[in-house]
Amino acid sequence: MTKIGFVGLGIMGSPMAGHLVAAGHDVTGFDLNSAALERLEVQGGRAAESVAEAFRGAEVVITMLPNHPQVEEVVFGNSLEPGALLIDMSTIRPATSLAIAAKHPRSLDAPVSGGETGAKQASLSIMVGGDEADFADAKPILDVLGKTIVHVGPHGAGQVVKAANQLMVGGIYALVAEAIVLLEASGVDPKAGLDVLAGGLAANRILDLKRESMIAREFQPGFRIDLHHKDMGIALDAARQVDVALPVTGLIASLVAAGRAQGYGSLDHSALLKVIENFSGRAS
Ligand code: NAD
Repeated sequence: MTKIGFVGLGIMGSPMAGHLVAAGHDVTGFDLNSAALERLEVQGGRAAESVAEAFRGAEVVITMLPNHPQVEEVVFGNSLEPGALLIDMSTIRPATSLAIAAKHPRSLDAPVSGGETGAKQASLSIMVGGDEADFADAKPILDVLGKTIVHVGPHGAGQVVKAANQLMVGGIYALVAEAIVLLEASGVDPKAGLDVLAGGLAANRILDLKRESMIAREFQPGFRIDLHHKDMGIALDAARQVDVALPVTGLIASLVAAGRAQGYGSLDHSALLKVIENFSGRAS
């Protein structure tokens, strides 16, 4: 049993903290939202009144916050116990993970993929950057949260892998959207069309999980366009850091930005379909 401080109990953090409690760990959590704290108490965890209280006595601290300003505020504004291990599972820019590691060498960047369903089912993919020994110490805890857990390199590497994930996910959504627009405009049943494509070379997880809801124009999140917009910024920034050109990523970032500008920021990222439809005057 490990004494864990957990900060950020939102869509992802809440079920993750619940799994840690269920696995027998002693979890003290904090969130700015009081409903999130009540949820943790129902799950059997302890609600703290501040980040400092959640950090106090914790052997392991996990953060699951929206973006780097919140992570910096929480991590740099509070003191960890000497020797405590910090596991930041938020999706943030790699530069912040490196800055955290400079201050707390016992830290890991461990962003996740798999969405709310993956968090609820404890089947997340977790990409971890940091020292091998710290990864080994974190592994039994990460095993409670995910199925595919890989140490991908030094500090910041986890966030780079997550950026690569997000640019691919955005691109696949955009192409599935274009396929739907083409099929519908041509008078072809999109369900029949995508069903056959899902068995061929174009098969992918997004086609499997989302084709029905996209054709039905159901866009409740899931993963919001606003968060994907943040992640495309991280991907472009990471590319700039290492002087590489990612032209398709730039285009996808603009499509996601258009979704936000057109008022779809709080919809699921599959609402990229609406952006693609708007180009052809086919708003649904
Ligand atoms: P969320 O907005 O539901 O949860 C974030 C929580 O952090 C909120 O409850 C908020 O009140 C809390 N918070 C914000 N600032 C705080 C502070 N200073 N102190 C304490 N609590 C604070 O977001 P989420 O969907 O759970 O996403 C969390 C992270 O996981 C993001 O970086 C996101 O990109 C990433 N992520 C999300 C998904 C998804 O499908 N939702 C999938 C993979 C990765």
